[in-house]
Amino acid sequence: MRAAPVVAPFRLLALVSLLAATLAASPGGDAQARRVSLIVTGAQVVTMNPGREVLSPGAVAVDGQRIVAVDRPEAIAARFTAPETIDATGQILLPGLINTHTHAPMVMYRGLADDLALMDWLQKYIFPGEAKTVSPRMVRIGTRLAALEMIQSGTTTFADMYYFEEEVGRAAREAGLRGVLGQTIIGFPVPDAKTPADALTRTEAFIKEFAGDELITPVPAPHSMYTLDEASLKAARQLANRHGVPIIIHLAETEDESRISREKHGLTPAAYLDSIGFLSPAVVAAHCVWVGPEDRVLLAKRGVKVSHNPESNMKLASGTAPIPAFLAAGVTVGLGTDGAASNNDLDMFEAMRQAAFLHKLIARDPQAVPAAAALEMATIGGARALGLDGKVGSIEPGKRADLILVSTRGARQTPMYNPVSHLVYVARGDDVQTTIVNGRVLMRARRVLTLDEAAVLSDARALATEVGKAVGRPPV
Ligand SMILES: [Zn+2]
Repeated sequence: MRAAPVVAPFRLLALVSLLAATLAASPGGDAQARRVSLIVTGAQVVTMNPGREVLSPGAVAVDGQRIVAVDRPEAIAARFTAPETIDATGQILLPGLINTHTHAPMVMYRGLADDLALMDWLQKYIFPGEAKTVSPRMVRIGTRLAALEMIQSGTTTFADMYYFEEEVGRAAREAGLRGVLGQTIIGFPVPDAKTPADALTRTEAFIKEFAGDELITPVPAPHSMYTLDEASLKAARQLANRHGVPIIIHLAETEDESRISREKHGLTPAAYLDSIGFLSPAVVAAHCVWVGPEDRVLLAKRGVKVSHNPESNMKLASGTAPIPAFLAAGVTVGLGTDGAASNNDLDMFEAMRQAAFLHKLIARDPQAVPAAAALEMATIGGARALGLDGKVGSIEPGKRADLILVSTRGARQTPMYNPVSHLVYVARGDDVQTTIVNGRVLMRARRVLTLDEAAVLSDARALATEVGKAVGRPPV
């Protein structure tokens, strides 16, 4: 009795202040909760961090552009509160997919000419078709269509190479996608440049327009060693050096390219580029199919990044890039779809699956490219290839919030024993529910928020009628 009057008011005071602090915090949070912009909770979180941790289940707190914490759902709930929480139960959360080689506006040529080898396809259909139909408007409408497809299928970063690349940059930025975008430099007159010198001038202007952009890295994209002379290749290289940006090129894609290089220079395409001082860790080389053991050693030594495009290589019957050998040699390999005209879509889930299957078949070894290796190429490997691994490619505190959610509750995904296996061997682009880039939700529950889907599709259909008329193949 005697002690009660002293102790009780103190306890009451403590209780009142605790209650006040709880009320001051946002609903559901406690006194210590930090307010962030977005929480994604309840998913199987495939982090792709250095330990390749998978949280079952897990949650991620995002503040502004960045991931601030990755933990168990109850730990995130205790530490953070947010105005928007996505309940991702029954879904896989993984880093957004990174397409290391495409030509976004070429979605406008999807299915225009199929079942041809690269040189026939390029020289009889694509180059002449492009000469008649590529314009800033075509690039704008095509990129919007490609962006819609990429957002819907979980691609958050793409490396591009095309004409009027500033239009690709503007459309990508509006859609909210991240891009390493290459202005094409090529040795014959094209719609945006009469000469390689013109193309170099417009590349420099393009680099200046997007310098310091949060989402877009503008880069030079010399088309290939067989469509450019030595002086233009060197000038493109110097331009990239001057601005400290990567450089994108097609390399050793076909046997024809290899033959042309040997006849002209007495060297393989890779050895020729090295002989003119072109190769460096800033080079993102698409394809690298026709590379012998010496070329592989050379590319590894120079730190060249390889973009593997299995679907395009199969469809154009170009050959098989020695990806297991590259990986064994420590070469950074990213995955790409190539343009939709040689694929014919931009679905990176399909690219992962085909990469895994192709190398198992060729090597007659089921371990040649396991599921984990295919997923690596499409995420952290792609980020390394593009020099973006400090920013994206894995789910880790401090990195930009480029995240996707993939459903796992349909018949095709049931049951699930291993999320990594499902992502590579079961999932399709259409299974992506939510796409987030730089902390911004671009698609929520399959609804794209940054593009007017109906307008993008109707603009593309109208433009296809013009393309069809110009090349004598009207769309149906
Ligand atoms: Zn290409």
